[in-house]
Amino acid sequence: MPSLAQVLAEHTREGTLWEPLDSRRIRCFACGHSCPIFEGQTGVCKVRFNRGGKLYVPWGYVAGAHCDPIEKKPFFHVRPGAAAYSFGMLGCSLHCPFCQNWVSSQALRDPRAICPPSLASPEEIVREAVAWGAEVMVSTYNEPLITAEWAVEVFQQARRHGLLTGFVSNGYANPRVLEYLRPWLELYKVDLKCFDERNYRRLGAQLALVLDSIRQIHQMGFWMEVVTLVVPGFNDSDEELGRIADFLAGESCDIPWHVTAFHSDYKMDDVQNTPPQTLARAAQIGRRAGLRYIYAGNLPGAIGGGEDTLCPGCGARLIRRHGFRVLDYRLTPEGRCPACSTAIPGRWAPAFRPKRGLWAL
Ligand code: SF4
Repeated sequence: MPSLAQVLAEHTREGTLWEPLDSRRIRCFACGHSCPIFEGQTGVCKVRFNRGGKLYVPWGYVAGAHCDPIEKKPFFHVRPGAAAYSFGMLGCSLHCPFCQNWVSSQALRDPRAICPPSLASPEEIVREAVAWGAEVMVSTYNEPLITAEWAVEVFQQARRHGLLTGFVSNGYANPRVLEYLRPWLELYKVDLKCFDERNYRRLGAQLALVLDSIRQIHQMGFWMEVVTLVVPGFNDSDEELGRIADFLAGESCDIPWHVTAFHSDYKMDDVQNTPPQTLARAAQIGRRAGLRYIYAGNLPGAIGGGEDTLCPGCGARLIRRHGFRVLDYRLTPEGRCPACSTAIPGRWAPAFRPKRGLWAL
C-alpha cells in the first residue's frame, strides 16, 4: 500500500514560486524558509519537492472543505454573518506543539496524523461554495503559503463568481510570495504566536520574518486581522502580551487583534486550558497599547462584551456577537458608526445579510 507521501506526490504539478540555485539545487520561495532543495529532496514542509531540477507542488486535492461562518476564521471586520467556504490541503511550514489543527498540518511529519486527501478541481470547489451561498473563499486548515499556487488557481475561479478570497496563515511569508498572491487575495489572517525569538525557533520559524511579513501584509493593502492563541506558560505573561500589542499598535491601531483560548491538544495535552481571566487581561493590555479592536475569542459569552465591536469615537456598540453568531449589527452601509460617523476599518457589505442556519454557536 502506498504511503501518504507517495499518494501526495502523485497529486502535484510544476510550481511557480521557485528558481534555479546552482547545478545541484533549486530554491523554493513560497514561504519564509526559502528552502534550497537538492534533487529528490523535499523542502521543510515536506509537500514541495525537486524532481529533475524542477519544483513540484501540491495540486488537485483537498484534505478538508467546509462552509463556516466567517467569524470562525476569525475575520470580524469582513462581512459579518457571511458564509466562508473553507478548503485546505496537507502540511505546514511549522511544527507547533500546541497546534489545534495538527491532523492536517502535521500529516507528513507525524504518523498519528491521518487525513486522506480527496481529489477536487477548482471548478468543483467553487461550485460547492456558490451552492452554499458563500461570499468568501478561504484557504485554511493547513498552511496555505506552502500550497499557494493551488490556492491562486481556486481563487481565480472564485473571483469570477464574485467571492472575496482569504488566507488563514502563520504569516511566515516573504515579499515575493506576497507579491504573487496580491492580485488574487484580499484577506489575510496571521497568527502571531509569541514575541520571543527562542520560542519562535522552537516552532520552526524566526520571529523577525513573521514581523516583517505582518508589516508587508498591512502595507500592501491586504485586509489583515491578527490572532494570538494564548497558551498558559508559553506566551501569557504581561510582558510578552504587551510586546505583541505594542508591535501591532506601532504598525496600526486599527489592526484587529484576536486573543483566543488554547485547549489542551496535541503535544501539550498536559497544559491547562486558557482561563477567561487570561483573555480579559490580554484584552486590557491591548487596549492600554492603543489597539482599537480587540476580541477575546472562542469562549462564547465568557468575557462580557469581549466579542463585540465598539466605536472608538463614541463607544457605541456597533456589532454584538456570541461565538460565531452576530446578534446585532448597527454599521451604516458605508461602514460607519451611525451615532458619530466614525469610519470603522474593514471590508463591509452594503447591507447586513447574515447567512443563517449553518451553525449553532
Ligand atoms: S513552502 Fe516553505 S518550507 Fe516548503 S519548500 Fe517552499 S520554502 Fe521550503
